[in-house]
Amino acid sequence: MKMDKKVAIITGSGRGIGRGIAIELAQAGWLIVINDIGNPDPPAETLSLVQAAGSDGHVVLADITVGTDRQRIVDEALQRFGRIDLLVNNAGIGPRVRKDILEVEEDSLHEVMNVNLIGPFFLTQCVARVMLEQIKEKVIEDPKIINIGSISAFTSSTSRPEYCLSKAGVAMSTLLYADRLANEGINVYEIRPGIIETPMTAVVKDKYDRLIDQGITPIKRWGQPQDIGKAVAAIASGFFPYSTGQVINVDGGFHIQRL
Ligand code: NAP
Repeated sequence: MKMDKKVAIITGSGRGIGRGIAIELAQAGWLIVINDIGNPDPPAETLSLVQAAGSDGHVVLADITVGTDRQRIVDEALQRFGRIDLLVNNAGIGPRVRKDILEVEEDSLHEVMNVNLIGPFFLTQCVARVMLEQIKEKVIEDPKIINIGSISAFTSSTSRPEYCLSKAGVAMSTLLYADRLANEGINVYEIRPGIIETPMTAVVKDKYDRLIDQGITPIKRWGQPQDIGKAVAAIASGFFPYSTGQVINVDGGFHIQRL
């Protein structure tokens, strides 16, 4: 069915930052394709929250590292809503076990790179092709792609180099697609979160509580998923038409070098 409302695909939106983005976009009237992997309960809960925010959505359980799954996300988005106006590459993982850079194993690097960089790279390729067709057919106008990067793109953590390398790659992927798609009418952005309170950071909560208390971020609080959601909604609303390949830091000022 073709809808007049704009449609966003958000990967990994069963919980955490992805769910925060889904709620903010739903409040702004967007229809949401909620993707997650594995357990169907968290994405179903995100769908309820999207509906409670006055919009609607569709859940696709799919692994973004698998080509046929990526295609299914796109196919189901089109079958259900008939258009794709925004892709948010949000799904991401850290290494299963944090190990010193001198001990890290090849499998761990491959796994993190596949989820954080290679899967999103090819999902972007797949979605961008559809967007180009839909622009030509006048189904959509000025679609956008947003990558959720990390301060780890420029901050060394020697106990999880896999994550840092993958996020540095996401930064370049943003620039590459921004360059290629600029003249086609698709702007590409990177949102770079700092320390955000989600299940991903729950395991290191005490450490980050202490660091925030000591002032590691000029804005002395944990970031919340809705902080990222608001930044996505601002870009999605179309108020940055002459910016592409742009990084938006949503990190409480973490990136500022201080003396
Ligand atoms: P999270 O709470 O762990 O949520 C990530 C979601 O992605 C989970 O629902 C997870 O599913 C899903 N996912 C994992 N692998 C997937 C795959 N192959 N295909 C589809 N979905 C998959 O993490 P978060 O903190 O919200 O992080 C979201 C994004 O922000 C990530 O890219 C992360 O690197 C980035 N980020 C987070 C922080 C932070 O402080 N939290 C800071 C900077 C950047 P399961 O639950 O089934 O595993």
